[in-house]
Amino acid sequence: MISVEQAKQFVNQSVFPLEIIEVTVVDALEFCLAEDVVAPISVPSFNQSAMDGYAFSYESIQEQLPIVAEVAAGDTQKVEIKNNEAVRIFTGSKVPDSCDTVVMQELTELVDGKLVVKDEGLKQGGNIRKKGHQIEVGNLALEKGVRINAATVGFLSNLGITSVKVYNSPSVTIIATGDELVKPGNELEDGQIYESNTFMLKAALNKLNIEPKIVLVEDDKEATQKAISEALENNDLLILSGGISVGDYDFVKEALEYNGVEEIFYKVKQKPGKPLYFGKTKKCYVFALPGNPAAALTCFYQYVNTAINLMKGSKAPSLNDLTLPLIKSIKKKEGRATFYKAFTDYKTVEILEGQGSDVLKSFALANCFVYLDETVQEVSENEMVNVHLI
Ligand code: AMP
Ligand code: MG
Repeated sequence: MISVEQAKQFVNQSVFPLEIIEVTVVDALEFCLAEDVVAPISVPSFNQSAMDGYAFSYESIQEQLPIVAEVAAGDTQKVEIKNNEAVRIFTGSKVPDSCDTVVMQELTELVDGKLVVKDEGLKQGGNIRKKGHQIEVGNLALEKGVRINAATVGFLSNLGITSVKVYNSPSVTIIATGDELVKPGNELEDGQIYESNTFMLKAALNKLNIEPKIVLVEDDKEATQKAISEALENNDLLILSGGISVGDYDFVKEALEYNGVEEIFYKVKQKPGKPLYFGKTKKCYVFALPGNPAAALTCFYQYVNTAINLMKGSKAPSLNDLTLPLIKSIKKKEGRATFYKAFTDYKTVEILEGQGSDVLKSFALANCFVYLDETVQEVSENEMVNVHLI
């Protein structure tokens, strides 16, 4: 059995970015850039007023200035004024080249229709966003590997960019195994349980803007082999749930071997999720997650999420982590690393009640894991621990 650190290293070494595609900026959410983006224009591309007010030349600030023109946002005609004159101006308007300062209208007065500046703190250049103050044409706007979020979409659009080169996002199938599983919405018979893992994993994938295909398969060797064979053909990533332990009805490992999947690791010294499997074919990566829901989701966040990010070419594939003081001491067995469902207010961290590998009640309230490696036996109150943010 390998350690968590080794398992993570195997994932990091084995997973490579998918092919590069071009997507429109509006469809680029959650993709990662496959090339540096250079600014095609300066932003702003002209000296821009940051306020509703008046523009003028700073030298003439002491005088009463006749207001000789107006520039609204979007006006493109050239307006020039002399020293000792002012222009009515608005937020976002182009500041005439002959003006170097804007005063906000709240700090002015009009006397006989002439402008009197009442802003004692006003400096030359005040209230003007200089051309290129955000970014200059030709400069690096965004680096390869950056994940595209709402602000990135805005920034790219600001630059007038309509499409970008990104690494493709993986196509994913989830196969859930288990004769005991019943879809919510149906009547449960004694001994059956509601199937939750596919909904849960789909939700986690949807957050990454991935829509998986979902397949349910009974605990049957041939059926499992067939479902795996089809999924391997058509996907970049196959996630299995359940059937990977050592029970008499656990056929997943055998069925993966049957389909020629190369095992990279099986079983990790961790809690929850010991029977985690990771393998690959030429075309498809495969994770087989334990069926216990909290174990499945823990393994998803700790390993599958990282693999997806690596496929997407992300610069930061793992969960973000912090070191924070634990608010209550905890004892743990040596020999197995543990991911505890926990809640953090970003100052301290609390391990939640209910750490069983089947328990989602606590997971539903968690916003992080506390990670204790296999050597740790005890952590005292206020001791610093490693926190992985979900
Ligand atoms: P397994 O890994 O197949 O041995 O399953 C371990 C435990 O997880 C059993 O109690 C299963 O009933 C439960 N389980 C397996 N698959 C699912 C699923 N898709 N949704 C909810 N619970 C599951
Ligand atoms: Mg099972």
